[in-house]
Amino acid sequence: MSDYGHIRGVLFDKDGTLMDYERSWGVVNREAARVVSRGDVELERRLLEAGGVDLSCDVTRMDSAFASGSTLDVARAFMAAGLEADESALVDELNGLFSGVLETAVAVTDLREFFGELRGLGLCLGVASNDSAAGVASFLEKFGVSGLVDFAIGYDSGYGQKPGVGMLRGFCGAVGLDAGEVAMVGDTFHDMEMGRVGGVGLRVGVLTGTGTADELGEISDICLADVSELTKILKN
Ligand SMILES: [Mg+2]
Repeated sequence: MSDYGHIRGVLFDKDGTLMDYERSWGVVNREAARVVSRGDVELERRLLEAGGVDLSCDVTRMDSAFASGSTLDVARAFMAAGLEADESALVDELNGLFSGVLETAVAVTDLREFFGELRGLGLCLGVASNDSAAGVASFLEKFGVSGLVDFAIGYDSGYGQKPGVGMLRGFCGAVGLDAGEVAMVGDTFHDMEMGRVGGVGLRVGVLTGTGTADELGEISDICLADVSELTKILKN
């Protein structure tokens, strides 16, 4: 019945996909720009813009430094925008500020129920994030779903980073599926590009992150308001 009966595994991005981007990272990014600008409001605005916030609508742009860069990328964007700092000291300070995201993290849906339903459909589940492996593990633990995920990795797990295809290949190898049997679910170009180059069976864009319907519509097979709609689609 389902058009997607060939799908036997789902690989999720984390930030903006399982975690609501603006209500989680958006809050932390804005606080980081405020802290490191040390009361210089004009500089704070420039840092937000350089990091990727569109100040006209207060939304983070897809594939900006904030949305998909490392801490070093954000530090360099801030310095290019006029923040005077020692690069490595700034990276350390930002890492400290960014670590607060776990406290503010808002999941896009009840992840225990959602993952439980997908497992009930016989699907293998993975999480591939450009955050650190420790950040991924802490997130899954916080929401009580570590035991429901077959494979969870970050940029430092030895599979490279998105949009490279190493993370997808790692998931396929770990759960014994071909890429054509996997749905890649994410909120950015990086996620969809990994899926495209790696030959996944379905690319699913979600609108809980930094990508807009127009942006994701062009690079995904289907675009959903949030991941919870996936259960119905994959049920067969
Ligand atoms: Mg993301």
